[in-house]
Amino acid sequence: MIVMKFGGTSVQDSTAIRRVASIVAPRLAEQPLLVVSAMGGVTDKLVQVADLASRGELSQALEILEAIRGRHILASSEMLVEPALSAFVAELDTRMAEATKLATEIASQKSITPAQHSYMLTFGELLSSVLVAAAFNGLGIPAAHADARKLIVTDAHHPAAAPLPAPTRARLQEVIPPMLAQNLVPVLGGFIASSESGEVTTLGRGGSDYSAALIGAALGASRIEIWTDVSGILTTDPRICPKAQRISEISFHEATELACFGAKVLHPATLLPAVEHDIPVAVLNSHKPTEGGTIIRATAAHGPSYFRAIALKRNISVFTVRAPRHMGSLRFLDDLFSLLRWHHLQSEIVAISGATASVAVEGNHELAKLTSELQALGEVEFQPNMAIVCLVGENIRGRCGIASEVFGIQAAAGINIHMIAQGSSEISVSFVVEEKDAVKSVQQLHRHIFEETSAAASEAAMETAKA
Ligand code: ASP
Ligand code: MG
Repeated sequence: MIVMKFGGTSVQDSTAIRRVASIVAPRLAEQPLLVVSAMGGVTDKLVQVADLASRGELSQALEILEAIRGRHILASSEMLVEPALSAFVAELDTRMAEATKLATEIASQKSITPAQHSYMLTFGELLSSVLVAAAFNGLGIPAAHADARKLIVTDAHHPAAAPLPAPTRARLQEVIPPMLAQNLVPVLGGFIASSESGEVTTLGRGGSDYSAALIGAALGASRIEIWTDVSGILTTDPRICPKAQRISEISFHEATELACFGAKVLHPATLLPAVEHDIPVAVLNSHKPTEGGTIIRATAAHGPSYFRAIALKRNISVFTVRAPRHMGSLRFLDDLFSLLRWHHLQSEIVAISGATASVAVEGNHELAKLTSELQALGEVEFQPNMAIVCLVGENIRGRCGIASEVFGIQAAAGINIHMIAQGSSEISVSFVVEEKDAVKSVQQLHRHIFEETSAAASEAAMETAKA
């Protein structure tokens, strides 16, 4: 079997849902299970409902719920015929009555508990999954809704509960295989779950990818497909380099490193259950289904270049602190990181040499106020308006000359490097440049590494294959 997850924009209206059906139809022999997000924008609207209700503004909250109902009525009336339409509307109205009751309770309390907030947010996926199952049947794909709240078991933390793999696997294995055996496509809402005691929970915003990975892992899927509105992962941001190329295969570690440095890839942490079970995850574009996507897997084949991709993280500042001679370096570093943690600042890159430490953190001029506090530790230099360039590629491990190549390209472009970090895992090279040089830096690297005549690149790949 395979798991196919469709995000909010992929199910946003009847046109999108029909497109989903046309993507699923040719895969029926592979026994697909569908995980769907709420129709695009619905979860944000439900957050508004919760906020309004908790301020006692019930009529405005109910107006938004009515608008959500309207979107589902419109989409269903464009896809379903009787008696399926009436059956869907009856189901819709049962759920809307539940949401209205919840909003009314919250409004009368004039406050909201974390559990009520989670509960309110689950209506989007509940409705979209029932709608997609009904639409599939109408379009000739035998499908059945399966209530993810009864299948994904979590702890009772809000707003992002942690899944409990053992009971989740047991419930899925009981319910899903008989559906597949009847050639039905099970359709589940992503993001929603419940605790062992039956309290409704969510996996946190954007949690549908996580649902797909959990379900794929529990059922031993041969593949998980994440259908979104971009064609996989690119070698860099196409707004910076119009010649950015689609990456056909990337390792889980590479994707994680890219995400840390600001690349707009789906959050790889959510794919961990799939990667742990060695299930490949394909990221595909539901608007361009024939375009091909990117496969994320535990170990990925070598690409045409040593590097897989380049990420750019802007809005970075660097603090450089020189410890006074009398202070022990251990205590100095301890105090420095405690201070950063106190201000909830995560260090993106750290360079320590002798009694001097440079730390790159996210933020800009507003961080200048920290200078006086850091001065308690030593002499401080504060540099705002910086950016981090991060090159990722597992294939660089153990290879000589990588750093000189990267920094040679920077030197030729006249770009000054402020800090350098090469991960000990040796799957990335990151460095800090001034923000004004950042775009040029990425463009030059991309041109040399990914755009130059593929002759050199394929030669290098051959060499690697031989080695
Ligand atoms: N609908 C939820 C959200 O918008 C979950 C998801 O789409 O993944 O956060
Ligand atoms: Mg999403």
